[in-house]
Amino acid sequence: IMCINAFGGFKRMTGFCKTRVPPGLSDALEAASKDGDEAVKRFGIDFGVTMCKQLLKDGTPGLHFYTLNLEKVVVGTLKNLGLISEEQAALCQAGDADAKSMVSAQGITTGTKIGTDDPKVSDLMKTTPPGFFSFEYFPPKTADGVTNLKKRMLRMKGLGPLFMDFTWGAGGSTSDLTIDLVTACKNETGVVANMHLTCTNQTASLAEDALNKCKAVGVRNIVALRGDAPRGMDKWEAVEGGFTCALDLVKMIREKYGDYFTVSVAGYPEGHPDAIEQVEGGLEVLTEAEKRRCRTFTDEDGKEVVMVCRDAKFAEEMNYLKSKVDAGSDFIITQMFLDVQVYHDFVSACREYGITVPVVPGIMCLTGYGGFQRMTSLCKTRLPAGMAEAAKACANDDEFKQWGVSTGTEMCQNLFDAGAPGLHFYTLNLEKVVVGTLRNLGKITAEQAASCSASDADAKTMVSAQGITTVTAPSA
Ligand code: FAD
Repeated sequence: IMCINAFGGFKRMTGFCKTRVPPGLSDALEAASKDGDEAVKRFGIDFGVTMCKQLLKDGTPGLHFYTLNLEKVVVGTLKNLGLISEEQAALCQAGDADAKSMVSAQGITTGTKIGTDDPKVSDLMKTTPPGFFSFEYFPPKTADGVTNLKKRMLRMKGLGPLFMDFTWGAGGSTSDLTIDLVTACKNETGVVANMHLTCTNQTASLAEDALNKCKAVGVRNIVALRGDAPRGMDKWEAVEGGFTCALDLVKMIREKYGDYFTVSVAGYPEGHPDAIEQVEGGLEVLTEAEKRRCRTFTDEDGKEVVMVCRDAKFAEEMNYLKSKVDAGSDFIITQMFLDVQVYHDFVSACREYGITVPVVPGIMCLTGYGGFQRMTSLCKTRLPAGMAEAAKACANDDEFKQWGVSTGTEMCQNLFDAGAPGLHFYTLNLEKVVVGTLRNLGKITAEQAASCSASDADAKTMVSAQGITTVTAPSA
């Protein structure tokens, strides 16, 4: 069975093989082709179903599909014939976005039009009911890591993320790889791509270069950030002729690219880490609002430490966030948090300050004790009562991940119940905790979870250029 994927391919193959074409078929297909590639594929599915039904009815033993290395028409045909379930079809839902890589050594091509632009995430959010999710990855340091990540992306595509998202290495250290990964995400994985872009070591022309590269491949979604200081530098500094903060970058994108890109920005429910200070005098000196977002812990000397973004500073942060949104940001992705109340308070604060865009919670996957400690102390994250102890009590990485899944599930369910539009998972380039959490939330089927059963055995290759590593020693 030759899958009819494109009118060009149909003409070429039937001419080449001198195939008898039933009357009217060619004209009908040509007419469908005027409505675009998708219409041709729909036609191909209908035609395939009619043909295969007849063949099966006549007692043919089976069907051998010439897939042309694509899946949409095969999947549609099999589904409409009732030979596969809805769930099986959903596992292959990604479409044929990688078609341009499917040219054979003989130059046989499917003739599929390539290079269509990605949809904008802001548009998708308007038409997607609340409850979506997205996955963030960072560029791995080694070639093996990149290969493994691409395999992981293909597996995780089957879970149905709204988009996949790629960080920009501190100081632009991984800029080429980040651009390669978003391109692969769009063209090879067939998932809408979202790229981070920072101002660190970045002149306007370098930023434009990166944005032009995205535009050239049709990647239309950007997270505009100031960035962290490059490795070895304590303080963030602008380069000559560069941007001073994320606001400058948002303004430039809107000025130079109009509304071509969806632009999102970072939001900090507990305040930016630089604005979080240690306070003497204990909880008593804090206001009620400060008490709800402060971090408390016992230091090595047994002293109770209180850290918080004071109200006045928090107000500055909110005003600044409002100016990032007013400059043209479409939505906010939050910094990690572990106390869901902090997210709810932040959304309320956003609305009070007149920030009306969606606030998507960033969910840090709890994959290992070392990473948990490192990230929460770096970001000065507030921990709900008992969480530090529960994390420490996990005997090994597997137990920690199980705890990460149950903690993540509880958090995410609470967020959805209270109206969060979606979840943005900081995957740390791993899949076990994300898959377990989504399965518990009922967002994916057992079959989808099973298709990502590969575990995190390749974790050691997933080290970022900044040395962020997910490989953590068991707490014991
Ligand atoms: P900005 O929005 O510029 O703000 C930085 C701080 O300065 C805030 O405290 C802000 O309130 C303050 N500020 C700046 N200008 C003003 C002003 N005019 N008035 C008042 N206050 C001001 N880092 C990377 O290197 N690569 C990444 O890919 C990356 N991805 C991230 C994704 C998310 C969702 C988040 C939350 C963070 C990410 N980071 C990344 C980290 C981020 O770059 C750092 O947190 C950085 O220190 C701040 O970036 P920003 O875009 O929030 O900066």
